[in-house]
Amino acid sequence: MNNIKEIVVVSGKGGTGKTSVVGALASLLTNRVAADCDVDAANLHMILNPVVIEEKAFIGGKKATIDLSRCTGCGTCREVCRFQAISEGYVVDHRQCEGCGACYFLCPAGVVDFSSSYAGSCYICRDKYSAPLVYAELLPGEENSGKLVAMVRNEARSLAEKSGTPLVIVDGPPGIGCPVISSMTGVHVAVVVTEPTISGVHDLERIIDLAQFFKCKTAVVVNKGDVNPDYCKRIEEYSTTKGCTFLGVIPYEPRITEAQIRATTILDVAPDSPTSEIIRVIHKKLLTILEEL
Ligand code: SF4
Ligand code: SF4
Repeated sequence: MNNIKEIVVVSGKGGTGKTSVVGALASLLTNRVAADCDVDAANLHMILNPVVIEEKAFIGGKKATIDLSRCTGCGTCREVCRFQAISEGYVVDHRQCEGCGACYFLCPAGVVDFSSSYAGSCYICRDKYSAPLVYAELLPGEENSGKLVAMVRNEARSLAEKSGTPLVIVDGPPGIGCPVISSMTGVHVAVVVTEPTISGVHDLERIIDLAQFFKCKTAVVVNKGDVNPDYCKRIEEYSTTKGCTFLGVIPYEPRITEAQIRATTILDVAPDSPTSEIIRVIHKKLLTILEEL
């Protein structure tokens, strides 16, 4: 199946309520694969409550390991390590090791192993809506989160292809760095969740520019919009000027916290609330965007 559509939901920074929005939309999208690409702090699975079907190892970048049984204690490795990753007892702290390889190349006894190692896991799951979910967890201190994002997206696409599912919805990482770029390249629609604050507007500008650089159709949602209606208006006007679809304003909803504690969406906790109403409107608008692609 080569006409699979991908939506990524992003925000310029963490804490905008992005994952709550993704969880609610995923519960309404009946024929989809969900993918959590926020691999440094994955939490979509806490809302979608999945059963893990398969765990796949993520092999990260190279790290040094010293064979202490053969180490002569000459100290060369500690002298050349610019990252203070090697202890006085010649044990490498993998959280500090940047994988430069200097100790490996300069150890006179040739006792430094320098190879790729397990750096996290990618989980293939079935969620509580009986739909596929892929998420991943990176070990603390590990890098290459952009590479793990690519693995999550590839697994999600592969599941969609095998099952004939037409849509993948991705919970993207916050920010505008390498993991976000990895989650955004090649997707059809980028939905930006922002807040009505000065920093929210600033982050929105940067992430819209990034999405449009990658030629994604871009749509904007303001969360907690009733906190500052003036900024909502500014965001709506700015989004329209930039050619984005303005999907709507989600009001501040105190029962979101209850939904998070109960590991579900606001649609389950307060189905008749204004927040649930606007999420259903956003869902319909997204379907329209997808039909027009
Ligand atoms: S690979 Fe580089 S950073 Fe890692 S321990 Fe060796 S010298 Fe230090
Ligand atoms: S350079 Fe090699 S032999 Fe020397 S202390 Fe380091 S690991 Fe041991």
